[in-house]
Amino acid sequence: MSSEERMYKCPKCGKEFSKEEMEILPGVKCPYCGWRIVVKLRPPVVKTVKAI
Ligand SMILES: [Zn+2]
Repeated sequence: MSSEERMYKCPKCGKEFSKEEMEILPGVKCPYCGWRIVVKLRPPVVKTVKAI
């Protein structure tokens, strides 16, 4: 089973995609519009947040 399935989001076009989709193209970029800044979304399982 795949352990970590993190989702990413492109701030430019607003599309969400997985790491696998992003790796279709070389480097870190949006597979839809080619924007080179992608935002990591939180994994669905939320753990306890550490207090600083
Ligand atoms: Zn995009």
